[in-house]
Amino acid sequence: MHELNLLLTVKYDRTGLLQAYRPVRPCGRDGYAGAAVGGNAALETGTMRPDICRISRKDIAAMTDKLKLTCLDCVQVNGVPADRLDANPKCGTCGVALMPGKPVAVEARTLEKAAKTDQVPLLVDFWAPWCGPCRAMAPEFEKAAQLLKGRARLAKIDTEREPAASQRWNIRGIPAFILFRNGREIARETGARPAGDLVRFVDAAVPRS
Ligand SMILES: [Zn+2]
Repeated sequence: MHELNLLLTVKYDRTGLLQAYRPVRPCGRDGYAGAAVGGNAALETGTMRPDICRISRKDIAAMTDKLKLTCLDCVQVNGVPADRLDANPKCGTCGVALMPGKPVAVEARTLEKAAKTDQVPLLVDFWAPWCGPCRAMAPEFEKAAQLLKGRARLAKIDTEREPAASQRWNIRGIPAFILFRNGREIARETGARPAGDLVRFVDAAVPRS
């Protein structure tokens, strides 16, 4: 792997460092290697030995590349660094958790926006209250949301209240599960199933990095 040898710019105040920079790893005795949050990967380290204070380009990309993520509450699009998805990011506009680890009930217009915008996998359960298998599936869907926390978001749409969504996504039977990513549908399945199967379904479409 290609590595950068960092130039030394000193920040001794650890509190200030942590506020201004995201720590990457302990580096030497006195501080951390870090990357400026939201900046153009400017790097600063303390007086630690350069051979310890190395950071790969991949690390930098993971810290500074932002993924688009639609708030399922206020529908505002947020940018979240890839390595912060499991750090409970919140919507910059309304403050709700963007990766809550539980299913979020959405309306058709919210789904429309998220489906064509989000770069983080979005697994949507098309269900209805009159559908027995859908209701039986609900606890498994909740379990899957917990298991996939930090990797994918799970949302539910009530097709009885939102018939337009069924038409829009050509739903023939429920429960139906559609996985969206990078503005398009990447996989779908129909029929109730245990949480583990849903996780494997997501794993198959979006391999873990
Ligand atoms: Zn919001």
